[in-house]
Amino acid sequence: MKLEKKPIKIFVTGGSGFIGSNFIIQQLLKTENQILNLDKLTYASSIKSLRSIENNTRYQFIHGDICDNSLIKEILYDFQPTYIVNFAAESHVDNSIKAPDQFIATNIFGVFNMLKHSKKYFTSLNKREKEKFRFLHISTDEVYGSLQLEEQSFTEKSPYCPSSPYSASKASSDHLVLSWFKTYNFPAIVTNCSNNYGPFQFPEKLIPLIIINCLNEEKIPIYGDGMNIRDWIYVEDHCTAIHEILIKGKIGRQYNVGSNNELKNIDIIKTICKIMDDKVKRKNNLNYFDLIEYVEDRPGHDFRYSIDNAKIKEHTGWNPSISFEDGILHTIDWYLNNKDWFTNN
Ligand code: NAD
Repeated sequence: MKLEKKPIKIFVTGGSGFIGSNFIIQQLLKTENQILNLDKLTYASSIKSLRSIENNTRYQFIHGDICDNSLIKEILYDFQPTYIVNFAAESHVDNSIKAPDQFIATNIFGVFNMLKHSKKYFTSLNKREKEKFRFLHISTDEVYGSLQLEEQSFTEKSPYCPSSPYSASKASSDHLVLSWFKTYNFPAIVTNCSNNYGPFQFPEKLIPLIIINCLNEEKIPIYGDGMNIRDWIYVEDHCTAIHEILIKGKIGRQYNVGSNNELKNIDIIKTICKIMDDKVKRKNNLNYFDLIEYVEDRPGHDFRYSIDNAKIKEHTGWNPSISFEDGILHTIDWYLNNKDWFTNN
């Protein structure tokens, strides 16, 4: 990741969530860029995640909703961003199955609202500003649906086949964003990333859930037979990919982002439990793996995700740099050293 010569203004939405907060911290540490973060502060966010940078003069926060017409308009014309990075979303599949409404509101109508106002703002820019402007929509590999073991990894040409209300809402927003490029020549890009892990991830997601349940000696629930496969990327690698795409990505394109790191859920649990056995010994020589409990499978549960990351490598030179072995150790250490982040979160 190279330091930008001239500071750039980035309007980030959903920056108080897991990936957004890692992105903001990385940008403030490694570039001279200015960030405005708009976040609704839903249950999945934490203001604690950005404590380390909240007084940074290059950072500002606005509490609000991407569905809010006048607020989005006001921010765009006041802040005058060169880049917009849209992380804001409802992101948990299980919640989308129980209560899809908010997923449709934020993930579809919210993105539409962002596009509508960003396009108007873009039209007001001069030629040089227009050339630099980018609208980057952060999406997921889940839009492609599920793979069998023998099937090829997802490429950007794989057909969309979402299984859950979450992935269907993200698929809808991806189509909207790309249509803004085709119809209006609006300089948008979509990224479809695989499963992220790392610091600041809300404990409803698999990896922090395992670590925290180990610490609390609570049951570790695992869906079905635990054989589902996900392709894991350390969150910092995803953030450097976003940085590179903003600078070198081609407008109107999609980029798959992944780390070539497919693992079965059950193997993730085994690995974390083993590391926890070494780091925080249980009483009476018990192992953390004994805490696992098989639970009824999620309806429509995708079996396997796998990302072909050739295109982003070719277009931007980006490469993931953190192995799963290093990333998971760092993540576990982070949760062990930051218990106040997830207690009373
Ligand atoms: P997250 O749930 O941790 O964070 C989402 C953030 O968006 C929260 O801070 C929340 O308060 C905010 N938000 C929600 N609705 C909003 C609204 N209407 N207006 C403004 N802010 C709102 O999610 P995450 O894991 O950080 O994911 C960020 C993005 O990346 C999402 O779009 C998600 O689909 C995508 N993604 C996530 C993963 C992953 O493994 N976590 C993988 C690929 C893609």
